[in-house]
Amino acid sequence: MSAFILEKLCRGCKRCVNTCPVQAITMFSHLAIVDSAICIECEACMEACMHGAITFAALEEKKTNG
Ligand code: SF4
Ligand code: SF4
Repeated sequence: MSAFILEKLCRGCKRCVNTCPVQAITMFSHLAIVDSAICIECEACMEACMHGAITFAALEEKKTNG
């Protein structure tokens, strides 16, 4: 599973975009979007995000948070 952005928590700061070594993250409107086909699951973006908006437990989180 690739990194996943929790839209409610993303502040559009682009730290993750600048951190990703393979440019798998782009900004769409003011949200970061991960291209799962490019992501190598290095977790660098998750460590860079100061808002806890990046997770690897994507689908479970989404169900829980609605
Ligand atoms: S680092 Fe976090 S808050 Fe900033 S754009 Fe990326 S996901 Fe959003
Ligand atoms: S886990 Fe690594 S490769 Fe995947 S989006 Fe985050 S920084 Fe990029």
